[in-house]
Amino acid sequence: MSRSWLITGCSSGFGRRLASAAAARGDRVLATARNSEAVFDLVAAFPDLVIAAQLDVTKPDTAAAAVAKAKASFGGIDILVNNAGYGLIGAVEEGAPDEYRPMFEVNVFGLIETTRAALPALREKGGTIVNFSSGAGIAGSAGSGFYNATKFAVEGLSEALAEELRPFGIHVIIVEPGPFRTEFLGRSITVAALEMPEYAGTAGQRRHYRDESDGHQPGDPDKAVAVILRAIDATAPPLHLPLGPIAHTTAEHKLASFRRDLDRWKSVAIATDFEADNEA
Ligand code: NAP
Repeated sequence: MSRSWLITGCSSGFGRRLASAAAARGDRVLATARNSEAVFDLVAAFPDLVIAAQLDVTKPDTAAAAVAKAKASFGGIDILVNNAGYGLIGAVEEGAPDEYRPMFEVNVFGLIETTRAALPALREKGGTIVNFSSGAGIAGSAGSGFYNATKFAVEGLSEALAEELRPFGIHVIIVEPGPFRTEFLGRSITVAALEMPEYAGTAGQRRHYRDESDGHQPGDPDKAVAVILRAIDATAPPLHLPLGPIAHTTAEHKLASFRRDLDRWKSVAIATDFEADNEA
């Protein structure tokens, strides 16, 4: 059965490939981008299935207009993909508010506003929300603290949404990619202007990683998209979907270190309730 999608950030990378893959299997797609001209070629490739719309996730009125367009054109939305996002490299002490706050506007508040705009349509017949987090949403690392914070916010919000939306038949899938060869490390990563020598051995290494890794990321985004489609189609979709071996290793390390902390500190850390009332 043909389904209707609304995808943010379709000018390149995962968003563009998801739009194309969904249309290639006969689904209808509202492919959105800050500059809708960036998706006109997708419309030309699938004129009966893909419609373009302008959506800057930092402008809630554009999200509302895109949802209205999807409802008018397709009769509703079955799958919302909150894909738009970008990164910032820098130690927490190096970052400036005008560098990290705009990223929260896109990665966190943009995702929230787009979701809120689409929820009434999604609740009508159920569906799926795919939220792009990252391996950086599983574990924090030096030089990525601000980006980690945005993706951890996506994780918490998505877990809450999954509970809230279960009664409406809406699944939430949190996609957690490791490094994939999109335009992310090229044009979608900003770098803190201030570089402190004190962080050369920790956060500073992340700056080198960006310079050395762009174009060499091991992940194939087309393969990632195939896995995402499979997860959406599953009868029991995963809540968490780490993609690629690096994200999987990150998740395994996180689980193991979390487990170690729980085990070592449990007896002390749980002895914190009020003493039982013995007067009865
Ligand atoms: P990409 O090719 O650089 O695509 C990023 C997309 O986000 C672009 O279409 C960009 O549109 C869009 N965007 C940025 N700000 C926006 C805004 N205010 N409103 C609407 N769209 C906006 O990188 P990508 O890898 O596909 O990134 C997609 C998602 O995957 C992001 O959430 C990213 O955090 C996540 N991710 C990527 C990787 C990776 O290694 N590739 C790993 C983990 C997570 P413009 O053309 O208008 O800038």
